[in-house]
Amino acid sequence: MIDSFLQAAPVLHHLESAGYEAYFVGGSVRDFLLKKPISDVDIATSATPEEMKQVFRKTVDVGIQHGTLLVLYKGNSYEVTTFRAESEYVDFRRPKEVVFIRSLLDDLQRRDFTMNAIAMDHKWNIIDPFNGQQALKEKLIQTVGSAEERFTEDALRMMRAVRFVSTLSFTIESVTLIALKRHQNLLEKIAIERKRAEFEKLLAGLNRRNALRLLLEVGIYKFLPGFENREDVLTRLIECECEDLNINEMWLLIIYYLNATEKQEIEAFLKEWKLPVKQIKEIIRLFFFLKKRLAKQWDTYELYSAGKEAIVSVEKLYEVVTETKPHKGMDHWLELYEALPIKDRAQLKVTGTDLLSWFNQGGGPWVKEMIEKVELAIIMGEIKNEHLEIKEWLEKCNRK
Ligand code: ATP
Ligand code: MG
Repeated sequence: MIDSFLQAAPVLHHLESAGYEAYFVGGSVRDFLLKKPISDVDIATSATPEEMKQVFRKTVDVGIQHGTLLVLYKGNSYEVTTFRAESEYVDFRRPKEVVFIRSLLDDLQRRDFTMNAIAMDHKWNIIDPFNGQQALKEKLIQTVGSAEERFTEDALRMMRAVRFVSTLSFTIESVTLIALKRHQNLLEKIAIERKRAEFEKLLAGLNRRNALRLLLEVGIYKFLPGFENREDVLTRLIECECEDLNINEMWLLIIYYLNATEKQEIEAFLKEWKLPVKQIKEIIRLFFFLKKRLAKQWDTYELYSAGKEAIVSVEKLYEVVTETKPHKGMDHWLELYEALPIKDRAQLKVTGTDLLSWFNQGGGPWVKEMIEKVELAIIMGEIKNEHLEIKEWLEKCNRK
């Protein structure tokens, strides 16, 4: 954990040697002080992006309009952001423009919560003008300055507060909570993509059920796509032992409690959340395996077509929604899966080219059909996955 900072320390050094200030900031300092694993080290500096480019040879423009540059250094990359103040907030959303500044204090002041407004220099000195360490000690989520102002400037901060309840198991400080209750309707204005990022972090947190309860009690759920009139969904989620589920499995659980059964309905819900198409497809795939599994046990072909990861996800969901540990549970199905002679069509010891030459026929849909026939016969244990055996078997089938 300290390693990430040690590795990144030369980046701060270089900036300082060039006459600028540079600090570790944000989630990495917070998590370090909490003795938690650090995801990525964020760096803030008084240098502007152009000035940073003079200091480092390799940089990538990732968000230069916000003052963020990716610095590539000794095989690692670091997001380095110029100290900034956010001027004018428009319509309760992120500021229209950012202003680069030279003062660390002003940069920390624009941050959301006191626990996120702590800086650390490369000598491990902590700069904590808003008493963030005290908040960490008391496990409190408290805005920097007036909660009313901070939430009206950028309403997403209210969702961030709830997601930190989930990921850190902290409590929202009382004045901050009052402001949150008062201003939650401003979340209406916030882009779905930003809400989704926070919601997915919430769904993955250890304390997710309490965070979901808070969404329900405070009323924030009304501003989340698809949840508008669905207190029932939240209520059921809160009651579930869902802590071991990953993000896609949580989405699946939500869909299950929405009672959505048609593909279009599920797709529409996930699209409203602007999930990537690939993720939507995977969740829908899992949903239909879950649906089948709830109706009956797995058969060999389903185990094969689902694949290991989906079997694990579906079995986890099965246990959560039925609140049972079935006699033939995860281990049983995984054992059957492991025993399958092939796990993927690519492992077949026959190819389309083989078929064309064996049967001396032009290409056509029959090739795919025959491959599928072989695949099924192998999975069902009727024949072995061996070139010659497949050939003989097909010739015999053809003669019939
Ligand atoms: P995580 O460990 O989950 O990444 P984080 O606190 O680092 O948590 P980020 O979204 O990565 O969260 O943001 C980095 C830092 O930027 C925060 O710690 C906070 O100081 C600041 N920040 C992020 N979003 C906002 C916001 N909407 N308003 C004010 N400050 C913010
Ligand atoms: Mg972060």
